[in-house]
Amino acid sequence: MTHLNEKVSKTTRRTLLQTTVGALGALSLLGLSARRAKAEKVSKAAVAYQDSPKGSQRCDDCALWEGLNSCKQVEGAISPSGWCRIWTKAS
Ligand code: SF4
Repeated sequence: MTHLNEKVSKTTRRTLLQTTVGALGALSLLGLSARRAKAEKVSKAAVAYQDSPKGSQRCDDCALWEGLNSCKQVEGAISPSGWCRIWTKAS
């Protein structure tokens, strides 16, 4: 019986260790992706960002708009009524 308990205990520890290592690896990859996505944003100046729309083109109708004053490609606070050169019609 003791032998069986030791075997179960070893298996449980191994499973716990494998799960923990797997979870840490996944979290690490997520953190790397988030950092990479942040690093790939360009400055407002690089895309000629302006706080006003260009005709009917505005940030909150752009495919790159993230909401909450944020853009997937341009760094900093972005106005929903802003515009830049990489504006792309949201589908
Ligand atoms: S127009 Fe689009 S790409 Fe340019 S800042 Fe606004 S949301 Fe971002």
